[in-house]
Amino acid sequence: MEPATQLIVGGRSPFASVATVNPPVFRGSTVVLDTYEELRKAAAGTYDGVSYGTERFPAQRMLEDAMRGLEGAALTRAFPSGIAAIQHALMAFTKAGDHVVLCDNAYSPGRSFARSILSKFGIEVGSCPSAVGADLVEYLKPNTVLVLLESPGSNTFEIQDLRAVAAVCRDRGIVSILDNTWATPFYLDAFGLGLDATIHSVTKYISGHSDVLLGTVSVGPRLAPILDDYYKTCELFAPFEDCHLALRGLRTLQVRLKQHESSALEIARWLEGVDLVGEVIHPALPAHPQHELWKRDFTGSSGLFAFTFKADHPDERIAAFMESLRLFRMGFSWGGFQSLVTAGRYRREHGSQYEGRTVVRLSVGLEDPRDLTRDLEQAMANLR
Ligand SMILES: *Cc1c(COP(=O)(O)O)cnc(C)c1O
Repeated sequence: MEPATQLIVGGRSPFASVATVNPPVFRGSTVVLDTYEELRKAAAGTYDGVSYGTERFPAQRMLEDAMRGLEGAALTRAFPSGIAAIQHALMAFTKAGDHVVLCDNAYSPGRSFARSILSKFGIEVGSCPSAVGADLVEYLKPNTVLVLLESPGSNTFEIQDLRAVAAVCRDRGIVSILDNTWATPFYLDAFGLGLDATIHSVTKYISGHSDVLLGTVSVGPRLAPILDDYYKTCELFAPFEDCHLALRGLRTLQVRLKQHESSALEIARWLEGVDLVGEVIHPALPAHPQHELWKRDFTGSSGLFAFTFKADHPDERIAAFMESLRLFRMGFSWGGFQSLVTAGRYRREHGSQYEGRTVVRLSVGLEDPRDLTRDLEQAMANLR
């Protein structure tokens, strides 16, 4: 054999069956097939195995299957990010002439996508209030086919009456989708409450280490064939390494989440006693406007919450507060071991009790909560 050929054929015996606990990362486009029958089936779309790199390599399939099982869904598909999961869920279940309703506190890039892109394809986009329940009927039209919810919303933390919304949608054949990123499947059983589909930004708690971008859409039996066809037709797939890392993160979700929960509650309760603080916006605190709904539907709380200040501090003072934090780092996203802080003023189409006020959002990480409260305390000196 000539050297050029040896370069290609040497070292090719397959070791794919080594049974590591975590699956290996497969990288690839072409998958070589053994028989002509397999090739013909793959071309016809009837081959059972994986015949190309776009057909969801093992780590992706395992991640999807783990999420599907955890949620009690019929089908889960992974997407390259949470926002991609939202965009594709909106496209998979709609067509020209339809009307969709997006909850006012849903992830804002998803709402922007609907307004600027879905509308180009003849889909009407409406909205409903952040704490919607049975009053959803007021925001529906005869052509409404989909309602997108996020509970609690990840900046202002309003809770929707998910049971009431699911019942309204079920009666009318409307697809109800919940972005369940905050609670994760551990703290909210979306399908048990009667919702049709969930979205997760796997980027957050599920991957848990701020080094992955990934999303999932999970659906019940009615929508499973639609999502399956849509995903296949678009030849979508999720990045190979990210699926591997997300699956690895998923294994420790429960222990991490419990620590995020207890640390966040400790800090939230401490903040309630700080004289400078206005509202502490945490669904698990009795002062939260929809605390009773949270108690009814959720079995726990995660590490993301917010607070306001009593005084309306000018932006320079807020900047001094934010920039003097040492353990809470300024940055978007959340759900990782590193504590993070953002602040902003949020506008809602249907109004908000926090309108025009600065809302400081904390993602409580895995540092000792005593150090985190000390960090907040020293930074607040800038506001005194
Ligand atoms: C971050 C986030 C998303 C988007 O996820 P990415 O993976 O960052 O694109 C969607 N929904 C919620 C609630 C989020 O917090």
